[in-house]
Amino acid sequence: MSVAAVLVAAGTGERLGRGLPKALVNLCGRSILDWSVAAFANHPELDELVVVAPPASAEAVAATLIGNCPLPCAVVPGGASRSESVRRGLAALPRGAEFVLVHDAARPLVPAQVISNVLAALRSGADAVVPVLPMVDTVKRVSEQQVTATVDRAELCRVQTPQGFRLATLQAAYDAAPELIATDDAGVAEAHGVTVSTVPGDEAAFKITTPHDLRLAELLAADR
Ligand code: C5P
Repeated sequence: MSVAAVLVAAGTGERLGRGLPKALVNLCGRSILDWSVAAFANHPELDELVVVAPPASAEAVAATLIGNCPLPCAVVPGGASRSESVRRGLAALPRGAEFVLVHDAARPLVPAQVISNVLAALRSGADAVVPVLPMVDTVKRVSEQQVTATVDRAELCRVQTPQGFRLATLQAAYDAAPELIATDDAGVAEAHGVTVSTVPGDEAAFKITTPHDLRLAELLAADR
């Protein structure tokens, strides 16, 4: 049963403030995107990759990736929203794949075990799977700088990527909501009535958003 990964890397990275797309920012000698590609290309259960690149850099990304990647790899330009970028990545996948993993390239240090956890749940019959971690902070609802409620954190969790799906399930969910903009792919599946399962995530799969996150990633990547 073949497994494809779509790596979405077309974000602008404004909050990182490096003046170039986040996926192209250097992390200990190679780009954030290269780290993410390596995590999937070196995973024994992966068969093919699609990288959704910043539009202005798609040709340059293709020139460096294709030929160097140990798996069949396509590069397509991204869209204005993450959801649009995923749609473009899915459209570039050959129809033959059974499962698809959608991953934020901005999570370059995702451990192989998280990818394995997601795939194991799919192979056990789940239609959709997300890696999760517990909330560690107290969570409050705030309106106009005033606390309006304390939310029970026991029933909340942080959701990471890769998120895994039967390809036909995710494609049908995106096709059913062509205008929907969601912050993750499971949200699109949920809106289509799909049951989403959870597996353990890992703190190392954190998303690089701020300069602080990049510094943390540099410290962790230096040990790899
Ligand atoms: O902005 P944020 O970091 O939450 O984006 C999550 C992932 O989605 C990143 O890897 C980013 O490159 C990707 N993305 C994209 N196309 C967009 C916006 C975000 O591929 N238009």
